[in-house]
Amino acid sequence: MSKTLFQKIADKEIPSALVYEDDQVVAFKDIDPQAPTHVLIVPRKPIPRIAEARPEDHKVLGHLLLKAAEIARRLGLEKSGYRLVLNNGPHAGEAVPHLHIHLLGGRQMKWPPG
Ligand code: AMP
Repeated sequence: MSKTLFQKIADKEIPSALVYEDDQVVAFKDIDPQAPTHVLIVPRKPIPRIAEARPEDHKVLGHLLLKAAEIARRLGLEKSGYRLVLNNGPHAGEAVPHLHIHLLGGRQMKWPPG
């Protein structure tokens, strides 16, 4: 199986502005930021999207969420708030078929989202 775009970023075959990494996840700045802070938090395991996560993925999914909150805290977003987004499939506008959490902050968000 060929590597996904985000696996190539995680393996540093494609450059990125890395924000955090450990043995399970990497986080880097989105190349097309939609807010003053826009970071993608990605499991090294290439789960295509949340709909395809399996019960045995629960540890990495929990880790991913906890790291998203930790990175938001480290970037100074805790008090002002931030949004975490997972796009799943065509109606959500999913573009990269490798699970990732968008961390968006630094401006007022609207609801409902577009
Ligand atoms: P999604 O629509 O949820 O699949 O989001 C994919 C995201 O990946 C988009 O926000 C893109 O701007 C972002 N993206 C695509 N290529 C890169 C890249 N090489 N480095 C950083 N972010 C990227």
